[in-house]
Amino acid sequence: MREQHLRPSPISATVDFEANGTQHGFLRLPYSRDDSAWGSVMIPVTVIKNGEGPTALLTGGNHGDEYEGPVALFDLARTLDAKEVQGRVIIVPAMNYPAFLGGARTSPIDKGNLNRSFPGRPDGTVTEKIADYFQRVLLPLADVVLDFHSGGKTLDFLPFCAAHILADKVQEAKAFDYVKAFGAPWSMKMLEIDAVGMYDTAAEEMGKIFITTELGGGGSATAKSVGIAKRGVRNVLTHAGIINGDVDTSPTEWLDMPDGDCFAFAEETGLVEFLADLGDVVQRGSVIARVYPTGRTGAEPIEVHARMDGIFIARHYPGLIKAGDCCAVLAVRV
Ligand code: CA
Repeated sequence: MREQHLRPSPISATVDFEANGTQHGFLRLPYSRDDSAWGSVMIPVTVIKNGEGPTALLTGGNHGDEYEGPVALFDLARTLDAKEVQGRVIIVPAMNYPAFLGGARTSPIDKGNLNRSFPGRPDGTVTEKIADYFQRVLLPLADVVLDFHSGGKTLDFLPFCAAHILADKVQEAKAFDYVKAFGAPWSMKMLEIDAVGMYDTAAEEMGKIFITTELGGGGSATAKSVGIAKRGVRNVLTHAGIINGDVDTSPTEWLDMPDGDCFAFAEETGLVEFLADLGDVVQRGSVIARVYPTGRTGAEPIEVHARMDGIFIARHYPGLIKAGDCCAVLAVRV
């Protein structure tokens, strides 16, 4: 087995995951470098535990330029009272902390995309060491995992909470119950474009209940999108029985991503003009966007077509687009 010959993680926690009460501390990852010979990456972590009960592992900043999760979780870490909790809440607002500090999707240290680095390596890059710590230390402690994502600097999304279609239908049904409890305006049966190396897959293969979000994008967060995140995370803790009370429900619309026709990619580089906005209903074959060649005037734009009927749920964000970029994503109402 893989685990048997792996050395221990080099990361040490300054908190005791078994102690009752509230602890704010760090996951300390040794990182020797020019400006700090015996330096460390100090990843903030909060553990709030009160007696026996389930454990929720709450994470943001898996990609460093997505902000609803970090804002909601830095806020939760300072406001959730241990007396409110039955069980344990582990909060890591910025998982890939170097990427988060760099305001970038990937780590400036090693260019590591944390959500493509699982299961990670204890003797690998900084990003691989973070993945390995979650794989072998934090995920095994969890019953339910909520990992916040948004579109980052290059994508923008309709706000949704999501889970995946799984082989284990009991695990899948429990995950979708949590998605419903989260209570985002949209709820998604999500198809991944590239599931290898994802935190999601690591958690699901361990049998954990795993839910995620896409709550906005463009490299910032709004009052509305942060509000969805804050309400959603408390709803998840309530649904888990970790905090008391009723789930604060509001209507959600269920969406499905049936196959790869959901995705429309740019085949040309240039200036993008969208002909529809997020939330619009589009028809198969309709023009979602035009890409204008930027080298000269007078050239015809290349069109990007919808490959299915659906609701426009995500789009490329910056005004310029490159060949191969994901231009638009569609989903269908369930
Ligand atoms: Ca993301």
